[in-house]
Amino acid sequence: MIKVRFPPSPTGPMHIGTARTLLVNFLFARKNGGKIVFRSEDTDRERSTPEFEKELRDGLDWLGLDFDEGPFRQSERDEIYEKHFEELKKSDAIYPCFCSTEELATERELQNAQKLPPRYSGKCRDLSAEEIAEFEKAGRKPVWRFRVPAGEIKFDDLVRGEISEKGENIGDFVIRKSDGQFLYHFTVVVDDAEMAISHVIRGEDHISNTSKHILLFEALGRPVPRFGHLPLLLNKDRSKMSKRDESGKPATIERLKNDGYLSEAVVNFLALLGWNPGGGSEQEFFSRDDLIAKFDFNGVAKAGAVFDLERLNFFNAHYLRELSNEELAEKVKPFLDFEIDDEDVLKKAVKLAAERMKFFGEAREFLHYFFGEIDPPVELFENPKMKVDRTTAAEALTESLPVLKAVENWTTEEIQKSLLELVTKLEWKNGQLLWPLRVALSGEKFSPGVWEMAEVLGREKSLQRIRKELDKLKK
Ligand code: GLU
Repeated sequence: MIKVRFPPSPTGPMHIGTARTLLVNFLFARKNGGKIVFRSEDTDRERSTPEFEKELRDGLDWLGLDFDEGPFRQSERDEIYEKHFEELKKSDAIYPCFCSTEELATERELQNAQKLPPRYSGKCRDLSAEEIAEFEKAGRKPVWRFRVPAGEIKFDDLVRGEISEKGENIGDFVIRKSDGQFLYHFTVVVDDAEMAISHVIRGEDHISNTSKHILLFEALGRPVPRFGHLPLLLNKDRSKMSKRDESGKPATIERLKNDGYLSEAVVNFLALLGWNPGGGSEQEFFSRDDLIAKFDFNGVAKAGAVFDLERLNFFNAHYLRELSNEELAEKVKPFLDFEIDDEDVLKKAVKLAAERMKFFGEAREFLHYFFGEIDPPVELFENPKMKVDRTTAAEALTESLPVLKAVENWTTEEIQKSLLELVTKLEWKNGQLLWPLRVALSGEKFSPGVWEMAEVLGREKSLQRIRKELDKLKK
């Protein structure tokens, strides 16, 4: 039975790297008919909050990553940890350590000076019962350390193949603090064992933890799961991607959602970070079902995966163009801060905007001029490069009015045809007619094409805007 876990720590928003790890767990489980457990790893009591847990859950919902068991919270499982702790105590796999913070710091300085890796010296490893009683009498509260045995620890990583580590290189690590709190290495192994996790799939930053975890599984007499470590996400300059991405914005799922990316695009993009379907396939666009069908660990790269915002934009643009006018209009609304006075105009305008915007957060600049009144400054009509001044702009608008009035079917094609015929008749350059029309219809320097815009606005509104600007130019 395949079983994986979603084990986020609710100490902050969902990082893009976390989302990628959870997605790989999801794809692997769903592909193999396995189960997914949600477990909130909230042992860090100061930094964990219910709000962050909710945000993580919302992020999962948004990405469409559902789970089968849980939510479990580590903060509610002390009894279970206590039971296993007693077990380890009985088998002498752990021991109390009374070293003070100062003693440990001195030890570390010494190791630094000798260029040795920092590691607990093992000073309290073999305290006698009398020595322990002595410390306790003096009121000292111990931490509990795991007694790391000498010898080789090996595992066959799903991504990186065989990895091994010498027990001699791992210091006896703390599993319980002196205030009684259990620590990550211990809780994660107890939970993975209790929840019968078969595959632990996580980021490469956890590789060095895995040998410790294997030792703990063995000490608890539990089967060791398979491990797979995913390559890290990198910035374009190949530095490790941290809290912010290259654009300086938070590298979180919440930010992508708030910027108005489509979750289909984000999932497609995340899946391809460090994974490809192999077999020389050039497929780029994958639906969730497609990803589930094709996911395989053979396609996961060992090298770090570069997070490229341009590529996310490319995927988003693709999925935007696949939406119908109605879907686009519905989805874009939360991103607009002006009144929509005409639903039909919105449906057509957003379809037009979808050809150029990268995500809904940009929609405003592509849409606002379709609604309400516009009032461009007269200077905007002047464009020396196109040989347009106020007089010729007024002329252009004057000439356009009867031509547009006469267009039989108000479609992009017919509007275009009529206006181009007018340009030919006047022996002008396109820009001399189209620049003033663009400004009159949009009030902007940059906008969709004049005929597309005119169609969306409708004949009445288009003519009304042109007349109004003509009046301004003639003053
Ligand atoms: N809670 C850990 C984290 O968020 C996950 C650790 C694990 O996958 O074992 O990094």
